[in-house]
Amino acid sequence: MFLLKEDVKVKLYIVVPCYNEEEVLPETSSRLQEKMQFLMQNQQISENSHVIFVDDGSKDKTWAMIEELHHRNSLFSGIKLSKNRGHQNALLAGLNFAAEHADAAVSMDADLQDDINAVDEMIKKYNEGCDIVYGVRSTRDKDTFFKKFTAETFYKVLRRLGGEIIYNHADYRLMSKRALKGLAEFKEVNLFLRGIVPMIGYKSDTVAYERGERFAGESKYPLKKMLSFAFEGITSLSIKPVRLIFDFGVAISGISVIVLLYFLAQYFMGNTVSGWTSLIMSIWLLGGFQLMAIGIIGEYIGKVYLETKARPRFINEVILNNDGESK
Ligand code: UDP
Ligand code: MG
Repeated sequence: MFLLKEDVKVKLYIVVPCYNEEEVLPETSSRLQEKMQFLMQNQQISENSHVIFVDDGSKDKTWAMIEELHHRNSLFSGIKLSKNRGHQNALLAGLNFAAEHADAAVSMDADLQDDINAVDEMIKKYNEGCDIVYGVRSTRDKDTFFKKFTAETFYKVLRRLGGEIIYNHADYRLMSKRALKGLAEFKEVNLFLRGIVPMIGYKSDTVAYERGERFAGESKYPLKKMLSFAFEGITSLSIKPVRLIFDFGVAISGISVIVLLYFLAQYFMGNTVSGWTSLIMSIWLLGGFQLMAIGIIGEYIGKVYLETKARPRFINEVILNNDGESK
């Protein structure tokens, strides 16, 4: 019998990284349970779908709560990391697990800021053939001016530097099994998921949602952590900042040639102190050449850096060959 994709219900994992989230977990778990039951009853996901809480080395009762949830209801599963490894690593732990066991996974934060109703639309797009569905904030009305401005600048800088970044998308997204397997091919230690997920390719789409306030507790991303996250994002995606040094060196050398012609003219007209022209010429020219040299060395170091990441150079989507896999 020929089966449509809609007839085969997707086994969905919802991956939720948790760091000291005891205040929100009871509410988050009950809302997720409600949502999963609704999706199961409406034949949208299979009965053996799960919510995977990843405890990122919490110091409060988070893990005890996850254990209890799991014992009460097999819908809930848990992974406990041996220590706090940060949001991105916790997410990856859950997503790698889902790559092995599920047909698709949705990643979302524990604090209910991501509107869980957007999952319905994500599944719809998945059934229409999308491998990655990005949750995108429809407005930033609730953000402070500072947050809006910094976020906007961050996206612009990343785009300029060649990063394929989805505007206003955090880590709320659905990924199909093959996209998850593709993600698992990225072995880099400094992880910036929003930067590498678009590199996986395949058909993707976005779903707009309203991002709310944190339900309870405090943000685990204070300004300092956020800035280092942004810096991490830029440096893990691109070696362009190094190229800027080289460009700067070229510019300085170019400018110095022009300026030096002027200084030489002054020198021949006798308008200068003796020794000053040769001194200033050496400073400018050497400065420019040194910057260029640093830029060239930087380019090689940048190449080494990119090579050490050992990112996949390609991911096959379809193979038409009677000897190989076909799809
Ligand atoms: N988180 C984590 N490890 C950390 C910090 C945060 O797993 O070291 C989780 C946290 O529990 C939450 C998500 O990452 O589910 C996003 O964190 P938060 O909501 O505090 O960030 P914000 O929304 O304020 O940017
Ligand atoms: Mg949050």
